[in-house]
Amino acid sequence: MTEFASRIRDIRLSEIRKMFEVAVEDTINLGIGEPDFNVPEHVREALKEAVDEGMTHYTSNMGMYELREAISEKLRTENRVHVEPESIIITVGASEAIFMCTQALLDRGDQALIPDPGFLSYDACVKLAEAISVPVPLSMEDGFSMTPERVESLITDDTRVIIMNSPSNPTGSVMGKDDIKGVAEIAEDRDLIIISDEIYEKIIYDGKHYSPACFTDNALVINGFSKTYAMTGLRIGYVAGREDIIEELLKVHQYNTACAPSVSQVAALAALRGPQNCVKEMVDEFKRRRDLMFRSLTEMGLECILPGGAFYMFPQVGDSRGFTERALDAGVAVVPGSAFGEAGSDYVRMSYATSYELIQEAMERLKPVCGV
Ligand code: PLP
Repeated sequence: MTEFASRIRDIRLSEIRKMFEVAVEDTINLGIGEPDFNVPEHVREALKEAVDEGMTHYTSNMGMYELREAISEKLRTENRVHVEPESIIITVGASEAIFMCTQALLDRGDQALIPDPGFLSYDACVKLAEAISVPVPLSMEDGFSMTPERVESLITDDTRVIIMNSPSNPTGSVMGKDDIKGVAEIAEDRDLIIISDEIYEKIIYDGKHYSPACFTDNALVINGFSKTYAMTGLRIGYVAGREDIIEELLKVHQYNTACAPSVSQVAALAALRGPQNCVKEMVDEFKRRRDLMFRSLTEMGLECILPGGAFYMFPQVGDSRGFTERALDAGVAVVPGSAFGEAGSDYVRMSYATSYELIQEAMERLKPVCGV
């Protein structure tokens, strides 16, 4: 086997995908990772117009200047992060931004700190860059926050990058200002780069979102439109940060994807510039579902943190694979926490990106699984 083949073999295929291959028709799917809402009407209109007006050609590698200007403005006014449009690359979803950052910033043998449990792409993208993932174990006692103490204790001479994700997939945890600032200060002191995945920024119920880029120039902001505007299939996101780093990232981007889809860029601009009440309505509905799921699970005796953001609950169940199988037998698909890293082994992830009524029914079905 070649070295490349063995590296690929070491990357696990998504367990979430596997779950749905085995789920039968009547199963209630609590594994969904995308909002079950429509793309806002004004964004749909902008898309149609873009097609009619022939906006179907390449844009500049970095993306439409007008969109980058709007993102620069958004970062300045909402996040207190100052990045010029020239230091923003429009990407094919946040996914491409994560891939691009790991490819450009990591060499063979370098170490990247990743949250554990954390979004599956981090470990895979670090491995594709021939680098080494160093899991930062997150605990329920700390509300699944990435604490500066944990981060500090895992830094070695080979550490180059820290990946952060708040609000988090899979735990729904929202890091507080002190932890964000603390990790940002470590990056500054140790000359490390933070890759901050902020894709769930707007799906937040309690607390406030802070970007580490507000505290250090060593942080790259990754964000996108998939979750906030229910535009997952339009594949549009961005990365913003220091000009010298963005220049390096561009080398990966321009030969890998050339540019993000032009009609999706038009849609993203319309999303940013248009009315935001659609986001509020979606978040209010997610909160209603979160409260239902949290109440039901805690009444069944499962311990979990009340997620401050995203649309995932992460209850502690003991043996996550056993629980997942029993839940599936009862007609509910969940994702074993072990899919998100070693520290997730006692947990399962349940998404509430499904209707209130289906969540009610799923909670009923889970009662016997929890011995109620
Ligand atoms: N980052 C996190 C934490 C996610 O949960 C996801 C999707 O589930 C992504 C990034 C990918 O986002 P996109 O659809 O914009 O590629």
